[in-house]
Amino acid sequence: MNRKKSGEFDWIAQIRERFASSVPAGTVGIGDDGAVIPLGGGRSTIVTTDMLIEDVHFVRTAISPRDLGHKSLAVNLSDLAAMGAEPAASFLSFGLPGDVDEVWKDSFLSGYRELSSKFNVPLLGGDTTAAGKIVISVTALGTAPDERIKRRNGTRPGDVVCVTGPLGDSAGGLLLQSQTPENEDEKRLIAAHHRPKPYVREGVWLGKQPVVHAMMDVSDGIASDLVHILEESGVAARIELDRLPISNTLRRVAAAKDWDAEKLAVTGGEDYVLLLAVQLDAYNDLNQSYHSEFDTELFPIGEIVTGDPWIEWQRDGKLQNIDYKGFEHEI
Ligand code: ADP
Ligand code: MG
Repeated sequence: MNRKKSGEFDWIAQIRERFASSVPAGTVGIGDDGAVIPLGGGRSTIVTTDMLIEDVHFVRTAISPRDLGHKSLAVNLSDLAAMGAEPAASFLSFGLPGDVDEVWKDSFLSGYRELSSKFNVPLLGGDTTAAGKIVISVTALGTAPDERIKRRNGTRPGDVVCVTGPLGDSAGGLLLQSQTPENEDEKRLIAAHHRPKPYVREGVWLGKQPVVHAMMDVSDGIASDLVHILEESGVAARIELDRLPISNTLRRVAAAKDWDAEKLAVTGGEDYVLLLAVQLDAYNDLNQSYHSEFDTELFPIGEIVTGDPWIEWQRDGKLQNIDYKGFEHEI
């Protein structure tokens, strides 16, 4: 049957519209990093779910099962962090082909267990089935006081746009993962792709700061992810390409391989850093407190401006005629 391909985001918009009237008042459904279900008494449960599919999200021969176990939970904890929520539990579902052996399964669980121990997130259930390829689906639950929940829709013109860590390392790792790494830099990029750091404590801390007006995590590249914040908030953004936090590691490897580091940083995705918008007059104080707490700074990359949901890319204060696109699954 011939079928016209469409994008993941159109499909999600279709589902959202179809089910909008079924969502009770006070509940947040489709459209943020997690759903928000009010518990009463000023607290809510936050729920998020993410799949990792063999040959779509990972290549079995390139990523170790232990790293894959880590990553499966990490990407979900990252979504909870993006909402400002404290993680409470996870559920792990598996589609497993017959050629996955016991050693692989054991190592996967070790990686998953290590991260769940680190952040005290018990695994409370899941589902298991036979499948043609490895399918992993994780659901994570968190909790937060209502006033600490960060959405994508709260930003205003004047806010500073910033991120909590480097952009593009994971995209570099994706390009390198099928070869034997030639040096420590290449190993570091591959590790960024295979073992992303979820900014759990940072997300909970940022949740407590009223001057953080919106937050999400970067899974598809800021060219795409920031637009979600802009759409939900009804504003535009001006991003300074010179200010992107591109690691020296990525710069060195990109120079050697003739890659465009800036493009990887903006469109690559899977960095799982937090992307947030902060009230301008509170930015310096917030950054100082963040530094005392985490011994690293926030990286400001631009500002929110009035206008249709659109990113103006600037260099040296001059508008650039570039149309960067983040990652979107074709379905
Ligand atoms: P993230 O990258 O933060 O995990 P996604 O881009 O996967 O977010 O999803 C964006 C929003 O769309 C989320 O609120 C998610 O729950 C929702 N969503 C995605 N796919 C579906 C689906 N098949 N049915 C219902 N909601 C979906
Ligand atoms: Mg997300």
